[in-house]
Amino acid sequence: MKDIVFLDLKAQYEKIKEEINSAVARVIENQYFILGNELKNFEEKFAQYLSVKYVCGVNSGTDALVLALKILGVGKGDEIITPTQSFIATTLAITEVGAIPIFVDSDPETYLIDVSKIEEKITKNTKVILPVHLYGTPCDMNVIMEIARKYSLKIIEDACQAHGANIDGKKVGTFGDIGVFSFYPGKNLGAYGDGGAMCTNDENLYKKMQMIRNYGQIEKYHHKEIGVNSRLDEIQAAILSVKLKYLDEWNNSRNEVAKMYRKYLDQKIKTQKINKKGSSCYHVFVIENDNRDELMKYLKDNGIQTLIHYPVPTHLQECYKGLGYKIGDFPIAENASKKLISLPMYSELTEDKVKNICDLVNDFYIN
Ligand SMILES: *Cc1c(COP(=O)(O)O)cnc(C)c1O
Repeated sequence: MKDIVFLDLKAQYEKIKEEINSAVARVIENQYFILGNELKNFEEKFAQYLSVKYVCGVNSGTDALVLALKILGVGKGDEIITPTQSFIATTLAITEVGAIPIFVDSDPETYLIDVSKIEEKITKNTKVILPVHLYGTPCDMNVIMEIARKYSLKIIEDACQAHGANIDGKKVGTFGDIGVFSFYPGKNLGAYGDGGAMCTNDENLYKKMQMIRNYGQIEKYHHKEIGVNSRLDEIQAAILSVKLKYLDEWNNSRNEVAKMYRKYLDQKIKTQKINKKGSSCYHVFVIENDNRDELMKYLKDNGIQTLIHYPVPTHLQECYKGLGYKIGDFPIAENASKKLISLPMYSELTEDKVKNICDLVNDFYIN
């Protein structure tokens, strides 16, 4: 069998090539590249998709997180409660605005923020709870919302891996005050370059979003706030509008792939548990193994590419030495960082390939 890559973006492009190419050509013909109709159209369509009032496109998911924190007034000394098991960008945004990340360990079954350990972290300096719908799987938002209400805290959802994931049909990113998305090429809804967005139902927050991403401008050359330059450009917006039409179809296929993995993998192999009523969009499909690095090598030798999400939890990253955390502080997340392996996952992955991967994984377990 031919080698199986972790993510085959070329296969996706082949299916929508004409639409994508004509969308890009249209923007270039129009010679209008920043804050035009393509962006407006995409923002409206994505808002409809999410069933949320407003979407504001920006440069990247990281920028969306930074700007969301700024818009909610987060700054120096404020404490933000967030999982240590995430991509580094979640915490980079917190420290970028001068706030302090207060880490919470993961749930051993879902690998998401352990909601039973949030309340004990709340102090008078806590401003925001920042959960991450990691691997495309929804956090228990009902519990998180309850805690936020009880202590009058804001919620920013990091939905950078979770476009279309939902709880009982309600899309993640729309539960809290602001939801944040990344359109990095490898994400479920990916641009052909960097991109990101914030969403909200609050008109006031939306106005602030539009201002801050565009130099803090209220009208040309009049700057009410100290803003930044962070806009989703017209070419990326045109590409995303094409891809958005297929997002549900692609997410459904990913769910089928996940089902196949669960069917063909030995029942002893631990996979990510999905919360009751939650529906994952399977940005990645992880399994747990005590000999993770050997398993990775075994699969690689057999032509299967796998990745690790993520080998170092945020509290142990070198850049955050200054926060003073040590090994043992968050044992569940640390265990996950040593044992999780991400298997190939994309909507064009065929059943025979999934079966081939599962056979190899099962063989490794037995031997
Ligand atoms: C991708 C990602 C981000 C950052 O998005 P960029 O567009 O790459 O800046 C933030 N959080 C999580 C969980 C992500 O996966």
